[in-house]
Amino acid sequence: MKIKSVRARVFEWKGKTVPPQGNFCSNAMDLVYSNTESMSTFRFHSWTVVEMETDDGIIGLGNVALAPSIAKAIIDQYLTPLVLGQDPWDYEYLWQRMYRATHAWGRKGVTMAAISAIDLAIWDILGKSVNKPVFKLLGGRTKEKIPVYYSKLYRTNLEDMQAEAQKYMDEGFTMFKSRFGYGPAHGTKGVAENLKAVAAIREVIGYDNDLMLECYMGWNLEYTKRMLPKLERFEPRWVEEPVIADDIDGYAELNQLTSIPISGGEHEFSLYGFKQLLDKKAVSVVQYDTNRVGGITAAHKINALCEAYSVPVIPHAGQMHNYHLTMSTLASPMSEYFPMFDVEVGNELFYYIFDGEPVAENGFVQLDDHKPGLGLSMKTEFLDQFNIIE
Ligand SMILES: [Mg+2]
Repeated sequence: MKIKSVRARVFEWKGKTVPPQGNFCSNAMDLVYSNTESMSTFRFHSWTVVEMETDDGIIGLGNVALAPSIAKAIIDQYLTPLVLGQDPWDYEYLWQRMYRATHAWGRKGVTMAAISAIDLAIWDILGKSVNKPVFKLLGGRTKEKIPVYYSKLYRTNLEDMQAEAQKYMDEGFTMFKSRFGYGPAHGTKGVAENLKAVAAIREVIGYDNDLMLECYMGWNLEYTKRMLPKLERFEPRWVEEPVIADDIDGYAELNQLTSIPISGGEHEFSLYGFKQLLDKKAVSVVQYDTNRVGGITAAHKINALCEAYSVPVIPHAGQMHNYHLTMSTLASPMSEYFPMFDVEVGNELFYYIFDGEPVAENGFVQLDDHKPGLGLSMKTEFLDQFNIIE
C-alpha cells in the first residue's frame, strides 16, 4: 500500500454565528492593550481537512484547527512531498521525516499541528486497511465506555450559567467545566465576579459532581497566586491553563501552591514538550490535543510517558482523534466533551464538517468496535455554508 495523493482543503464557515460577548472567557490577549475586542481573537471559524488516498483506494481523513490556511500551506509545500509514494505502515519513519525536515522552523505550533493532520490521515488509513478502529491498533478497549465532562459554561449572566448547568446535569453529566470571564485587568471587582460565578455553578451542581475551571491563559502568575487560595473552598477538580504555555516554571510554582491541581498542555507540542512539563511537575493533568501534538504517533508516546509519571491524560476537546487515545490507555480516565451548539467559539465546527463524532449519553461516549479507522466521514449537510479553499 502506497500513499497516492494528499489533498488539504480549508473549510471556512460563512454561516450564522453567535456574536462575541464581552468577558465570555479570559484569554492571553486580555493582558495586552488593544483597541479591538479581545474576544475577537478567541474565535476559530475555519478548519483544514486532509484527505489522503492510497493506491488501493482507501481514503484517510485528518484535520487541523490551528491557523488553518498556514497549516494547509505547510502541508502542500513541505509535508505532502515527504509522504507521497510511501507506505503508511511506516508511520514512525514518516513522522520523523516530517518532524526533522521542518525542524529548523517547525517543532511546535502550527507546523506540529500540520504534521498531526497528516499523521491522523495515515492512522485512519491503517485502521481502514485492516478493518479495525484505530483504538484497536493502539492497545484496544481499556474501558467499557468513555466518561466525558461537559465543557462550555462560558461566562455570561449567572442565571443563564446556572440554567445551563442544570440542563446538562439533567442529561446525566456529572462533571462540568466553566470559563472565567475576568483577569488581572479587571482588578478586585473582577476577582469577586470570578468567585461569584464559581459559587453560582456549585450552587446548582453541588459537591458530588466535579467542577473544572478554565482560564485559557488569561491570567498571570501574580493574579493566579491571588486567586488559587480563594478558589480552594470550591474544591475544583483542576484549574486549567492559568498562564501562557511558555511559562513552565510558573505552572510548576502554581501546581505546588495549593491543593488545587493545575492542568495544561493544550498548547504544548511533541514528546519533548510534555517531558519538560512532567519533569518539572508543572501540571497534574495533561491535556494535549491529538490534532496539535503530533498526531496519534506522538500522542501514543505521550500516553506512555504520562503513565510512567502517574499523571492522567485528559485530552483537549473530545473529538474522534482524541477519543481513540483515551479508549486505548489506562493513563487516560476520561475526555472533554464539547456539546453541539450554534457556531460560536468555533470548536463546534467539528460537528458541521464531519459525521461520526459520538454524542454523549448520560455523561459517556461510546466507540464502535466495528467501525474502521477513526470513524469519521465528510458531512454534506452544511457544505453550502462553507467557503472551501483548495
Ligand atoms: Mg482548555
